[in-house]
Amino acid sequence: MAQTKNKSASASGSASKSNSSSGSNNAGKTSNNTNHYSSQNGESGLLQELFLESMKDIYWAEKHLLKALPKMAKAATSEELKQSFVEHLEVTKEQITRLEQAFEMLGKKAQGKKCEAMDGLTKEADSIIEDTEKGTMTRDVGLIMAAQKVEHYEIATYGSLAQLAKTLGNNELADLMGQTLAEEKEADQLLTTIAENNINVEATTE
Ligand code: FE
Ligand code: ZN
Ligand code: FE
Ligand code: FE
Repeated sequence: MAQTKNKSASASGSASKSNSSSGSNNAGKTSNNTNHYSSQNGESGLLQELFLESMKDIYWAEKHLLKALPKMAKAATSEELKQSFVEHLEVTKEQITRLEQAFEMLGKKAQGKKCEAMDGLTKEADSIIEDTEKGTMTRDVGLIMAAQKVEHYEIATYGSLAQLAKTLGNNELADLMGQTLAEEKEADQLLTTIAENNINVEATTE
């Protein structure tokens, strides 16, 4: 965290340096706007790079989820939970398209890089399926727990990306990340509601 802050601060410092040497009629005056340093090529390069690497990570993660969610839907006992996984699969496809848009905005080709965290989280979901009995509400409790761990990872990622895009002065990109962030929060909330409404209570009688 402290490291990121330092980078951000030094990036903003170098931006004002380049502005004052840009040779415009205003050279020497202090009215130059130095907030949008990301629009100047080469400025804040390290932070930009961190942003791009995080995008590759979550791009891989979302694509990985495309394979995990149908398995989770198939394994779920209650129709309500099955349905929520199927719906989130559709939402996930849109999120992948949104990430591709984001890569394009940055003039980069959409590319994934293995996310060890998501790989681990989906492995946890797999072992819950293995360790619980088919057709039980206990399995659903476990699946909800696994799915919420996934959503929380995504919430942390998109929350950070949205904030970072803002810091980099790219509001359009921040908005895009914010849209996905809202969807992940909604998915998390829906899982909580499903657990509270029936599943946890029904599982206690098994
Ligand atoms: Fe997602
Ligand atoms: Zn990740
Ligand atoms: Fe990761
Ligand atoms: Fe999600």
